[in-house]
Amino acid sequence: MDYAFVKVRIVGGIGADDDYWRGLERGEFLLPACSSCGHWTWPAHFRCGECGSWDFDWKPVAPKGRIYAWTRSFYAFDRVAERREDVPYVTALVEIEGAGGARVLGMFEDDESRLAIDAEVIGEIRPPSEKSKGYPSIVWHLA
Ligand SMILES: [Zn+2]
Repeated sequence: MDYAFVKVRIVGGIGADDDYWRGLERGEFLLPACSSCGHWTWPAHFRCGECGSWDFDWKPVAPKGRIYAWTRSFYAFDRVAERREDVPYVTALVEIEGAGGARVLGMFEDDESRLAIDAEVIGEIRPPSEKSKGYPSIVWHLA
């Protein structure tokens, strides 16, 4: 089988974010920037959408930014049944200021009366748990 063919078939991100999870496990917040043109790519892909390079540098970034969007879940869907006791809970999509505006999802845990689009937040890295299906996670708090 032709190796290039295999790479083309898996473009789309599955496995491209492994370094993100490994970083969180070590307590580091890493995001990928293209080695060739510097474009931040998140969600992770195997190929840069700007220049086509296959090479990325996983760079440590301060886990802080502004809420781009958020949603409140009022139902424990089957795939997140571990969160049943947390319902309702808020998930926030945060635009990371040090990563070209890359947007990273995480739970929001803070005073919900101050929850707003553009609110400044800081991420806290949490170790793997049953609630996060054995993955480390990032939780957003108001700055
Ligand atoms: Zn590039």
